[in-house]
Amino acid sequence: NTFAEIDLGAGLNENIRRCKYVKPTPVQRHAIPIVMAGRDLMACAQTGSGKTAAFCFPIINGIMRNQLPQRRGARTAYPLALILSPTRELSCQIHEEAKKFSNQTGVKVVVTYGGAPFNHQCYLIFPFVELFCYSLGDDHILSSVSISLHLSKSISFISHLRDLERGVDILVATPGRLVDMIERGRISLRMIKYLALDEADRMLDMGFEPQIRKIVEQMDMPPPGVRQTMLFSATFPNEIQRLASDFLSNYIFLAV
Ligand code: AMP
Repeated sequence: NTFAEIDLGAGLNENIRRCKYVKPTPVQRHAIPIVMAGRDLMACAQTGSGKTAAFCFPIINGIMRNQLPQRRGARTAYPLALILSPTRELSCQIHEEAKKFSNQTGVKVVVTYGGAPFNHQCYLIFPFVELFCYSLGDDHILSSVSISLHLSKSISFISHLRDLERGVDILVATPGRLVDMIERGRISLRMIKYLALDEADRMLDMGFEPQIRKIVEQMDMPPPGVRQTMLFSATFPNEIQRLASDFLSNYIFLAV
């Protein structure tokens, strides 16, 4: 009933201790051994159930055990694990947690998401763009907003590319931006060994099914490798059951 009883390896156990996790939550207690035994998993998990660690721990453990070689500095990144999540906020949250769990293990985690992040970068450039547009005249006030938005999108895009070029083992991504990166030849999913779909029901509600199917198709292109898939969802409508039967093989259904 403690993390020490699960054979997660010294580095990961040390990070778990640093995070002050002592006892696994119910979803962690059941999901981690299932994935470590090599099975696919469909799990019913709400926000706050500890699902992030439930899929991150076996992924980090698997990558550490296999010590798969990483190509760094290449134009195309070849992640070994992919965590898909519906929103930028959730992706950033997962990225932060996964970085803590993989601290000093040599496992690299990178995040990429779309949309216009109204973060510090955007606020920094906005006054300059606005000044520039004012200097052009009144008609350009609206365009100052759209230029700022565009610049901020470009800045996040470029910073993600730079992170990817430094090497990535675990990629956390939103579906739309990932498809874009794949089409630009910046990410290849040919080496993926672990796929986690987080908040799958929310991704479908947001209309991401075509992108998700496109992404999984990329992983199934020949030669098909051995991939383990985990699907986490709070609800199980027919569309989720269909995704599970299309993407998972011989899976265990976990409801805690
Ligand atoms: P999640 O459902 O993954 O978003 O996790 C919800 C919150 O619970 C996060 O703040 C985690 O850091 C925390 N948490 C997850 N697992 C544990 C655990 N075994 N012990 C203590 N806190 C945890």
